[in-house]
Parts: sequence; structure tokens; C-alpha cells
Amino acid sequence: MSEVSTVPGVLILLGPPGAGKGTQARLLEERFGLVQLSTGDLLRAAVAAGTPSGLAAKAVMAAGGLVSDEIVLAILQDRMAEPDTARGVILDGFPRTAGQARSLDGLLAITGQRVSAAISLEVDDAAMIDRVAGRYTCATCGEGYHDTSKRPARAGACDKCGGTDFKRRADDTAETARERLKAYHDQTAPLIAHYRKLGVLESVDAMGSIADIAAALDPIVRRATN
Ligand code: ADP
Ligand code: ZN
Repeated sequence: MSEVSTVPGVLILLGPPGAGKGTQARLLEERFGLVQLSTGDLLRAAVAAGTPSGLAAKAVMAAGGLVSDEIVLAILQDRMAEPDTARGVILDGFPRTAGQARSLDGLLAITGQRVSAAISLEVDDAAMIDRVAGRYTCATCGEGYHDTSKRPARAGACDKCGGTDFKRRADDTAETARERLKAYHDQTAPLIAHYRKLGVLESVDAMGSIADIAAALDPIVRRATN
């Protein structure tokens, strides 16, 4: 008799910097109760905390390169060991190399989980540099803004919480964005073929509005989490 698995699958968001992975992952977290797991956020926390991993990652991140698989995997495994991830996770920014994809497959095999969908956010490269170089967030609530395309209604105050402190990521410059885009094409884009072979690839046009992209993701995630 076959047993129906109750272990939730893992969703992966693929796409270059600026494609909206973080924005959509946070929306999916709210909508589906999934846990967003961003290796970029975990690495930035490690850098801020000054851990050995953080110290080793700092310069690589500032230059727009990829942090070593070893460090990223250690950080991811620690996070995956926390109990909330049993609700199902949405990986944002991981895997980013063929080695990371293989490690993830191995890690999931141990816990009886699998990748239920790898969603590729399809965007136009040239627009990504502008998106990344112009973006910033509210330091209080994390709401995202952009110098030209999404300014607060009242200058200097967050639409959502009224906060007046804003922050910009140190690596969100045009120059670093170009390096990150190159790293994406060299090392991450080949994963699209990997997940297509596994039969779990979904592609979504991600040049529309945040709401449009969220609407396109909805049925895919509904199917993948059922
Ligand atoms: P973005 O997708 O906009 O580039 P992230 O927050 O996902 O932003 O990543 C920021 C930086 O953190 C990357 O440029 C890279 O240096 C590092 N990083 C994040 N995830 C990984 C990963 N899976 N493997 C290697 N480096 C990573
Ligand atoms: Zn705010």
C-alpha cells in the first residue's frame, strides 16, 4: 500500500537580481503560509552579525560574486533545521550553482522532501540594472520603493508605516548589479535546464506589475502545494 506523503514540497524561485524573487516570495509566504528562505538575507544577517561565515562572504558579496557553496550550504542547512520549515519552504536565491542544486537534491532525499516546482521569473536584462540600482526599502517595515518607478506618496515617509528611515543594500549599485547579472547567466541560468529535466520547471513573465506576477504565480503554487 502506498502512503500519501504529508511532507510539503519545496518551491524554488529562479531569476536574475531584480526579477522580484524576494517581493514575490514574501507575498507567497503571506498567502500560502510558506516560509520564505532567502540565502541573500541569511548571508546579510551573517555579515551584520560578524560570524566567521559572514566575514568570509562580505567582500565577495560587495563585488557581486557568488559566495562559496560550502558557506551557503552550511547557512541553509542551519535554517532548514528550524521547525517552522516543516510548513513548506520557498527558496529565494538558492540554488544558484549546479553544485548547490545537487546538494539540495541530496538534502531533500534524506528528509523525504522534493522540489515541487522551480519557477523561473523571465525578465529583460537591461531593465534589471535600473531596477536594482534604484531600489531601496523602508528601514522600519521593509516596504520596497524605487527612485523613479515607486516613490512614497509623501516624500520621505513610508506609505505603509509612516517611517522616515530608508535603506539601500550596499551591493545595489549599477556596477555590482552588472556583475551579479553576469554571475546569474554564467552559473544560475543553466539550472533552468536541470529543473526542466526533472519535470518541475514553470516559467512566468515577470516584466509586469507586482500584482500581475503574483496572479500568475498563484495557480502554479496552488498546484505545487496540493
Ligand atoms: P539578488 O538576487 O538581488 O542578487 P540576493 O539577496 O539573493 O540578491 O543575493 C545577494 C548576494 O548574496 C549575491 O550577489 C551573492 O553574493 C550572495 N548569495 C546569495 N545567495 C547565494 C547563493 N545561493 N550562492 C552564492 N552566493 C549567494
Ligand atoms: Zn514602512
